[in-house]
Amino acid sequence: MAPIAISEAVSDASAGLQTKSASNNSGDAVQAALDAATKRFEERNPVSKKLHETAAGTLPGGNTRTLLHTSPFPLSMKCGKGPFVWDEDGHKMADFVGELTAGIYGHSNPVIREAIISTFDNVGLSLGSTTTQEYKHAELICSRFGLERLRFTNTGTEANLHALNGVKKFTGRRKVLVFCGGYHGAVLSFGDGKVAENNVDRADWVVGKYNDVESTRTLIQNTPDLAAVLVEGMQGSAGCIRGTRDFLLTIQEESKKAGVIFMLDEVMTSRIHPGGIQRLLDLKPDITTFGKYLGGGFPIGAFGGRADIMAVYDPRVPGSLTHSGTFNNNTMTMYAGYAGLSQVFTDEVNVAFNAKGDSFREKLRAASKGTKLSFTGLGAILASHFSDSGSEDISSVDDIVERSDLKDLFWMEMLENGYWITRRGMMALILGTPDEELDRFVRCVQDFLQRHEAIVTIA
Ligand code: PMP
Repeated sequence: MAPIAISEAVSDASAGLQTKSASNNSGDAVQAALDAATKRFEERNPVSKKLHETAAGTLPGGNTRTLLHTSPFPLSMKCGKGPFVWDEDGHKMADFVGELTAGIYGHSNPVIREAIISTFDNVGLSLGSTTTQEYKHAELICSRFGLERLRFTNTGTEANLHALNGVKKFTGRRKVLVFCGGYHGAVLSFGDGKVAENNVDRADWVVGKYNDVESTRTLIQNTPDLAAVLVEGMQGSAGCIRGTRDFLLTIQEESKKAGVIFMLDEVMTSRIHPGGIQRLLDLKPDITTFGKYLGGGFPIGAFGGRADIMAVYDPRVPGSLTHSGTFNNNTMTMYAGYAGLSQVFTDEVNVAFNAKGDSFREKLRAASKGTKLSFTGLGAILASHFSDSGSEDISSVDDIVERSDLKDLFWMEMLENGYWITRRGMMALILGTPDEELDRFVRCVQDFLQRHEAIVTIA
């Protein structure tokens, strides 16, 4: 692909970034820096602004995925190539959004390309039937993650919904313990410890405190009608908050004793180790849910684990649960996902990639010591945080009050530096991201902290 006329934004970006923040630590100085960055953002992105206004005439708020809405308007991307994206105003950026972990193969991986073309030419789009490829992809995922049986869905949300229905049927119970900050899909969100307004089964949830061993033990032992515990090994959308092994092992052991199903949501974390976070931490969940990159860039979700539990979905058994979904086994996902996992993201590549992510995060941590900025994460998935304490020791969403004003400033200035990161601060690296881009990002962060020393240094 020959991408559009592209201006290498990276080189012209720094012009507006010279001004040092006023040397007082008040909210006024932060607001002044943010106002100036917002003004530059609007001036640099007239095409995105116009496109947003047009889109709002059809899509509510010009949006069809809430996360992507940013104020004053979102950037509209025109295309991507490898680990880079170009926006509609022609700026080139290193893609650190990485489609929230799904985009690990980048935008034009040759193996994925070949799989797409050969599927189209030799197989055809969805065949409305079972195929051998769905079994092959399922077998590969089962062997990677130590599962006995697997089912495919279209998204991680669906994977969790079907898995939850399965364990409720299997146990004959209804309640599910989840954790404050947990995110398990569009209708399964517990960000601030409350059951979100659009959640399903609103009466069934019990919300515990993440990483709190004793209260979790008590909840598992004392909650009547408890079918399952659903937990992320690292809370991704909450800001890459890692679960301790002690906490996750307590869930595993207490669940076993109580006849409760231990469900591990690895929709994001399955990529941080060849066997997922469960192998990294030596855990054995009863059911695991997946999604994201396992479709090779196409929509996917999957859930699997113990054969006796998964048997509730065996259509040969009278009274089994149905599991529908037009695109559950669509050919593009099955072939592209399999090609990616078997040929590109092999165990060796996985280990080297995540080691690179770990060292990148450590460099960022060193660069931000003593400031309100901190970094958390695991492997090639990380998140930036701004708080008055600058703490990087975050074990639950309650441990940190994020400074959204500084986050916004950071986001806008990193865009100017040529980095596409999420507004909330999460980054998921893409395979093949040049080392120079990682090193340059560390320097950009150092420059940011120096430029805004007066407002980012811990008082
Ligand atoms: N679980 C976790 C841990 C996730 O991070 C996500 C998506 N960010 C989901 C489930 C839902 O996946 P999807 O967006 O594919 O529905």
